[in-house]
Amino acid sequence: MLDAPEAVRERIAEASRLRLFLDYDGTLAEFAPTPDHVEPDPEIITLLTELAKQPGILVTVVSGRRLEHVEKLLPVPEVLLAGTYGVELLLPSRESVDRVSYDDLRPVLEELRPQWEALIAEQDGFFLEDKDWALALHARYADDFVAERVLEEARELAYASIEEAPDPEMFRVLGGHKFLEIGPALAHKGRTVEHLLERYPFPGALLLYIGDDDKDEEAFGVIQSHGGLAIRVCKEPCETQADGRLASPREVRQWLAMVVTRFSSTQS
Ligand SMILES: [Mg+2]
Repeated sequence: MLDAPEAVRERIAEASRLRLFLDYDGTLAEFAPTPDHVEPDPEIITLLTELAKQPGILVTVVSGRRLEHVEKLLPVPEVLLAGTYGVELLLPSRESVDRVSYDDLRPVLEELRPQWEALIAEQDGFFLEDKDWALALHARYADDFVAERVLEEARELAYASIEEAPDPEMFRVLGGHKFLEIGPALAHKGRTVEHLLERYPFPGALLLYIGDDDKDEEAFGVIQSHGGLAIRVCKEPCETQADGRLASPREVRQWLAMVVTRFSSTQS
């Protein structure tokens, strides 16, 4: 099942504590029909509850979704939730933290939004997602050629808005396969992991990150620089700096269930 070096298994077998960073969509769960689709999965909730219950395990879920959605998907108080790639945090203490000023950020997005809407108004297969802290254009169902052209224009509009912003440094534009997003520069899974490790330490733990896309890859290096391990979810072997691979969210869940067994049998 696991196409990972034996070293990953061995490291987990040896670890007395484990700090897990998990992506949600494409990692724990199959992709939702649209990113705004929020349907909690009881199997995932049970699994994360089990993981979080182990005294030797600290679980963080780092998602591109807004925190409000992540909370609905994962009503598990012991899990540290990071929404919008870590801009919005909900701590196990139930304290929520915004790492960026919404009032400074939002007006720039408000100005860009109608421009993007006009751009896709006559096009098939596009979807504009307003994530409060970020605007995302999805072109998953659009023709390849049209997607490329429209996303390029959208990118230019985004850069123009950022240039006029009072604090251009606050923003970043993220591209992906048939995807474009403007949001805060701190909406970066690597920077989020750095922040969480420093701000909310869990000493002596082996770090393990599981994720399925290029936004997760940004965190893999950070995890590895702290001596941790990264696992990439991809169906076929793919280009990654991860230490191992799992083929699907189903395999991730099976694998995490084994982690629960390993920790519950050695700690009482
Ligand atoms: Mg994902």
